[in-house]
Amino acid sequence: MKRVYNFSAGPSMLPLAVLEKAQRELPDYKESGMSVMELSHRSGLFTDIITGAEDLLRELMNIPDNYKVLFVQGGASQQFAMVPLNLMKNGKADYVNTGSWSKKAMKEAKKYGQVNVIASSEEDNFTYIPKLDQNMFDPEADYVHITTNNTIEGTAFREVPDTGNIPLVADMSSNILSEEIDVSKFGIIYAGAQKNIGPAGLTVVIIREDLIGNASDICPTMLDYQTHSESGSLYNTPPTYGIYMAKLVFEWIKELGGIHAIQKRNELKASLLYDYIASSDFYQSPVAEDSRSIMNIPFVIPGLDLDGQFVKEAKEAGLETLKGHRSVGGMRASIYNAMPVEGVEALVSFMKKFEEENK
Ligand code: PMP
Repeated sequence: MKRVYNFSAGPSMLPLAVLEKAQRELPDYKESGMSVMELSHRSGLFTDIITGAEDLLRELMNIPDNYKVLFVQGGASQQFAMVPLNLMKNGKADYVNTGSWSKKAMKEAKKYGQVNVIASSEEDNFTYIPKLDQNMFDPEADYVHITTNNTIEGTAFREVPDTGNIPLVADMSSNILSEEIDVSKFGIIYAGAQKNIGPAGLTVVIIREDLIGNASDICPTMLDYQTHSESGSLYNTPPTYGIYMAKLVFEWIKELGGIHAIQKRNELKASLLYDYIASSDFYQSPVAEDSRSIMNIPFVIPGLDLDGQFVKEAKEAGLETLKGHRSVGGMRASIYNAMPVEGVEALVSFMKKFEEENK
């Protein structure tokens, strides 16, 4: 068997222990004589999977009792519509524009109400996270939307903005479960699964209960948070296998010592890479130091046309998918929870060798 270090931004690496457990359980799940993919979503065995997944997520993230956990489909992109359709009672919301995904969220929200861009780093190619303070927010805004980790640009909010009584909505697709956060500071947290949770096709929504039940009249049933909340995410057939895989990933995080332990590991991995980039005059990080993501780390080789060669030789060395996003160029290493420390060490060694050979 050959396993590579996969630095893809998503879908991305899953822990090998999780894949192996899924493999063992695949043809005959808990003596049912069938795989999880073949189980009815109303069966007792699947009920144990979905409630088990929710319980583990609540435990890992310390989710308060007045929040619901929903397992839905449509990706994070569908949340770009669900959020305004459910929350825009006054018809306006504040958005912070920190990159391509924030822009897509704003574009969608504009269909349903007024979008106020209260801060943006677009003029500087999204290389930093704008500073926010309370008086920037419109007191009548239905919510404030942020993208906590900008997958393409490699920036992240290092602190949660205080929005007072205005619900804070966060797209946490690329950094959920990577570091400790205080869920009570958020109205809604949503994330596509395909980075830190499991396979693509599942979206996790963590929502404060008072934000459920206010959907606009035109909101389709499937996009109403209430539909999923009152049915325990079983209004229709949920992405059963994705939920099963998420449960295995949550168990894996718990065994590693929970989010506290995974955060330490993530910080170590990120500093290995950032420290090496800082020590080298060959590579450069395009991102402001106080805004750097520990999940997605872009880097460039200024002045030399070597990106294609870097990506090709890295692939030959078992380091996959290091090409930067087409909108940014250069390279990007996505080092989500499942990337082992050894994978980042292997990348740094390769970068040193490449630097020596091409300087
Ligand atoms: N938001 C962020 C921050 C993302 O990184 C992505 C996907 N890479 C999305 C939204 C879109 O997610 P999906 O493909 O699940 O719709």
